[in-house]
Amino acid sequence: MRRYLTTETLTIAAIVLGIAAGVWWPEAMLSFKWAGELFLMLLKMLIVPLVFASVFVAIVGLGSGEALRNLGLKAFGYYFLTTALAVTVGLVVVNLVEPATSHHLQAVGTVSPPKEQSLSSLLLSFVPSNLFEALSEGRIVQILLFVILFAAAALHLEAARRESLQLFFESVNDAMGVIAEWVIKLTPLGVFSLIGYVVAKEGLQTLWDLKSYVLAVLLALFIHALGVLPALAVTLGRFNPLDYFLKVREAVLVAFSTASSSATLPISIEVAAEKGGVKKESAGFVLPLGATVNMDGTALYEAIAVMFIANSYGVELGFSQQIVIFLTATFASIGAAGIPGAGLVMMTMILSAVGLPLEAIGLIAAVDRILDMFRTAINVWGDLLAAKILARYIKSEQ
Ligand code: ASP
Repeated sequence: MRRYLTTETLTIAAIVLGIAAGVWWPEAMLSFKWAGELFLMLLKMLIVPLVFASVFVAIVGLGSGEALRNLGLKAFGYYFLTTALAVTVGLVVVNLVEPATSHHLQAVGTVSPPKEQSLSSLLLSFVPSNLFEALSEGRIVQILLFVILFAAAALHLEAARRESLQLFFESVNDAMGVIAEWVIKLTPLGVFSLIGYVVAKEGLQTLWDLKSYVLAVLLALFIHALGVLPALAVTLGRFNPLDYFLKVREAVLVAFSTASSSATLPISIEVAAEKGGVKKESAGFVLPLGATVNMDGTALYEAIAVMFIANSYGVELGFSQQIVIFLTATFASIGAAGIPGAGLVMMTMILSAVGLPLEAIGLIAAVDRILDMFRTAINVWGDLLAAKILARYIKSEQ
């Protein structure tokens, strides 16, 4: 019996019980929100020190600027490949299913549109002008940029000084890993509370109201997660994706429950290295970078959502417009932060690129959180696969 009471099985049970409790006892689940928040806060507490230490250790472990460039280029190449494949799956599915609604058009305008994102402001936002501000605000992309420079600089120091920095950050990294293991034990409780809260707050009825859209998103996500990505694992990574999934599934379940790639990061790093057998240089570098840059689920979702909005408004988007969607959805997913609802905000970029009103976001906002859970699970699954696949191609010099 004890054999079955692992954190993973308890987490799956917690998801099922959370949904049931959200439906039957919404009041109770709304007031039990604190447990989920506690779990999230503990995870968030680990993100900044963990990202800092793990990326530093991973880069210095690579041993040279050349090895770093090599892995960096491969990581970005791979992210682009999978993101492009994800958007393509999204566009193919949405063109076949053609989801639309007229149902909620009246509701449009009641939700105030988020501020529009421009590409230049997005690029500037990647650079920190004050490291401590970036650290205290938890701005992951800015922190990543700094750590990459810091670690690259450390590679230029004489061996003794580089090694003392390395030893320090390795110890920080390991200690954070121990705390992550403690926090992971709370996963079932946190997941139960988070899922129960979402179901109690959003209700399942809205899913039914927008069923053709919801189904199109889910269908495309499943094709990508169960078909496209595993095919890459077999061909490029030469490993069995199902075996790997069973080892790292805890992180995917947490991504689903929290709808945040960043909050899941401490767990992804821990399970990839400890259970998934991923080299620490790869887990420490590819996962933190992937948590903000590589979002296949989000990219695919953006493409479907914009097409759905166009269909609902009766606007025909032809091939060239769909190329615009393809490009902007790719960038929007790279720019989206790993937090709940980030994809919805980034969608303004695509809507304005194809000339649709930003208020149209009101059309899909009601089901965003639930779809966010699915797309975040796919984002994290994509990152976990990336770390394992890229590990095969690391040319470490140490
Ligand atoms: N919640 C997603 C994530 O953290 C981003 C999104 O909103 O699509 O990966």
